Amino acid sequence: MKITDIKPLPVWVGNRNQLVVKVETDEGIYGLGESGLSGRELAVIGALKHFREFLIGKDPRQIGRIWQELYRSQYFEGGRVLLAAQSAIDIALYDILGKSLGVPVYQLLGGKQRDSIPCFATASGHAEKLVEGVKLLMAHGWNVIRTAPMMPSSPGAFNRGGFINGSQIFEPRESIGITAKWLVKVREEVGSEVTLGIDYHHRLSVAETASFCQRMPKGTLDFLEEPIRDETPEAYEALRRMTDVPFAIGEEFASKWQFLPYIERDITQFARVDICNIGGFTEAMKVAGWAEAHYIDLMPHNPLGPVCTAATIHMAAAVANFAWLEVRTTQTENLYYGDKGINDADVLFPVQPRLVGNSFPVLDTPGLGIEIDESAATGQEWKYWEAPHWVRHDGSVQNW
Ligand SMILES: [Mg+2]
Repeated sequence: MKITDIKPLPVWVGNRNQLVVKVETDEGIYGLGESGLSGRELAVIGALKHFREFLIGKDPRQIGRIWQELYRSQYFEGGRVLLAAQSAIDIALYDILGKSLGVPVYQLLGGKQRDSIPCFATASGHAEKLVEGVKLLMAHGWNVIRTAPMMPSSPGAFNRGGFINGSQIFEPRESIGITAKWLVKVREEVGSEVTLGIDYHHRLSVAETASFCQRMPKGTLDFLEEPIRDETPEAYEALRRMTDVPFAIGEEFASKWQFLPYIERDITQFARVDICNIGGFTEAMKVAGWAEAHYIDLMPHNPLGPVCTAATIHMAAAVANFAWLEVRTTQTENLYYGDKGINDADVLFPVQPRLVGNSFPVLDTPGLGIEIDESAATGQEWKYWEAPHWVRHDGSVQNW
């Protein structure tokens, strides 16, 4: 079998682009993958063009060797753009291999260790709306719920502050007080049964995170996702000395080497591996094994499309150390619906994983078990979309 083409398929789902990648072969079998570098799809498409030139004619079943060649056969190794492209290709190659052998991808990863994949949902309302959102999710059977930071200046707006010169304002010291107050209320209202976390989207400093955690009684939070940026593992180690809330880190990591200090030094307690950024199945399974040795459970990042979800389900089925998969199509939000009010993912992906309650069943369809309506996909053009640019009251830059 030989690779005959690698096609980037940028599609618009909900309110932003998803970059799906199709790898074709001379035997008519194709595979689908997805890139996780939201907002920089054109850069990834450029990387894919480079890779396409030397991948055509290669045997798509030599997945591990192709991974090494994509990573190492260039002077400037690694990085988020190249690994996002490489991830999509690696996922597609597993899809091809599974289809060619007539087996689901999890079978190629050691077989399934579970029959369904438990998931977590997100509630991100402001103040009382947060309590309502958590209770709504619990009423629908969700028992692991993630929340989002608030700002006091814009009641009713999820995650947002006011505006300055067209940019949104986020002021960390204003956010941590109100967010901690309402998380304490949520815990009081829902009791100890539910697992509760928050994603601070790397918007805080070490000192701000410490203050945030110290404003809540022990047991309020079960996990704290990415309160600070991750370039410096030592900063997380400093933070660990100031709080005992478990950390969930790693959704932006693009290779096992970025995970290295976080696993080896036991900095993170949950691995937020993103299969569309880390380097596909090949790299994700190595991270999973390494994390298993440190009793760290995977809590995969999955804010993308159905291809990412399908791939992550297969990975999750085949590892021992698994906590919960992120889903963004629940009773409190649905990232697949955009301004037009239709489910774009349903139009594009006639076959895709479907939630049953708060988990995904592990299906035995060969490959990833996902199909794209290619005519619907190729009829679309990439649209300019930029992640929000946030500022503080003084006009300085603040992470989104
Ligand atoms: Mg996150």
